Amino acid sequence: MIVELINTGSELMLGRVLNTHQQWLCRQLADLGYVVTRQVAVPDTGSDIEQAVKEALARADVVIATGGLGPTSDDLTRDLVAQLLGKELREDAAVLAHIRSFFESRKRPMPERTKVQAMVPDGATVLHNPHGTAPGLAMEVKPNPFRPGSQPSWLIMLPGPPRELRPMFTDTVTPLLQQVLPLASRFVCRTLRTTGIGESVVQEKIGDPLQRWVEAGLDLGYCARPGQVDVRLAARGGDAERQVGEAEAIVRGLIGPYIYGVEDEDLETVIVRLLTERKATLALAESCTGGCIANRVTNVPGASAVLLAGLVTYSNAAKQKFLGVHAETLDRHGAVSKPVAREMAEGARNQIQADYALSVTGIAGPSGGTPEKPVGTVYIGLADPSGTIAERQFNPYDRETFKQVTTQQALELLRRTILSDSVVSPV
Ligand code: ATP
Ligand code: MG
Repeated sequence: MIVELINTGSELMLGRVLNTHQQWLCRQLADLGYVVTRQVAVPDTGSDIEQAVKEALARADVVIATGGLGPTSDDLTRDLVAQLLGKELREDAAVLAHIRSFFESRKRPMPERTKVQAMVPDGATVLHNPHGTAPGLAMEVKPNPFRPGSQPSWLIMLPGPPRELRPMFTDTVTPLLQQVLPLASRFVCRTLRTTGIGESVVQEKIGDPLQRWVEAGLDLGYCARPGQVDVRLAARGGDAERQVGEAEAIVRGLIGPYIYGVEDEDLETVIVRLLTERKATLALAESCTGGCIANRVTNVPGASAVLLAGLVTYSNAAKQKFLGVHAETLDRHGAVSKPVAREMAEGARNQIQADYALSVTGIAGPSGGTPEKPVGTVYIGLADPSGTIAERQFNPYDRETFKQVTTQQALELLRRTILSDSVVSPV
């Protein structure tokens, strides 16, 4: 199966927008077994888009093009494709009605130009866009004048805004692909998400033991991000399920405690689930992460069932006032210290009356480091019914990466603690 991706948009060429479609679509397609063979980004100029579509149609079974379906003068994809394939554009009544109701429901007048989005090339299937006005379009190019032997191809056009493209891909493109271009052989893919272990250590631990499966066709991949390493196991064919299942069991046996989730599961999602299952509550006391942990936890639907409060106590005075951290602890050990992390967690737990309280205090940098406590030093505290623990970590990165990695470590400490606490008694 040859799958090609064309991302259109001059803003991509100018470096003003990161081409997230490239990554997101490649990832989704790969997980379905439709691995992208070639990807190109082109500016919003007619000749570039036309050239890219022609070239891709000359090779691929599926061509996915993103962007340029909107109502403005730089949105050329729909018209160009119709012209290229010699298809008439016709106004689609259902799409027009959707556009009208989209504006009506937002109590905004419908600009005349938005009507062009209801124009559909002859023979194209409309992919409904519940989050915007421009529908996606899918058409079988058959016969395909650009491909040797006129072999047919599918051309799928998706709107540029990610919040429109992503649900459309999941809800309509995925089932369409599976229906019109089913894979010749079964494809199974599993991603195991780990934290607290480096990429090379993961590879060291599982690479050799999985060698036999890799030789038998298992696709083993690693993807490292700040504070996280994903292990991807994939296989094709009638035996794929068994191969992936066996490989997963081996990986779990070797690095099981580091695996916090599967597929796209985030650590915060796991935390909210674990706490919800246990009817346990959480309080947060953050300093150097500035509310990042609270942000992550509140990104999860249902967080309100578990998160009671999160305090950002940045100054020493705030740590004393809101968390009851003692002046002498601060004086003797400094704000970035194990005893302060402990007192912050205990203070948050008592003040907020939560089962678990997580605290973070550290030096994000670039200034403020000392020889004993260099930039990147961070202490994470956790108070629960059985006591309080605090651990030292060292994350000498830029401020944003520092926050990402530190929040990951804090949530992981919480995850492991929750899992090791069999019973939580209320405070
Ligand atoms: P619109 O109706 O908004 O004009 P469109 O289908 O014409 O939608 P574009 O105009 O190409 O799409 O892009 C709209 C917006 O979507 C861009 O401003 C950009 O923020 C975002 N976008 C487009 N392409 C990408 C991409 N490859 N990766 C990430 N974001 C993108
Ligand atoms: Mg546009």
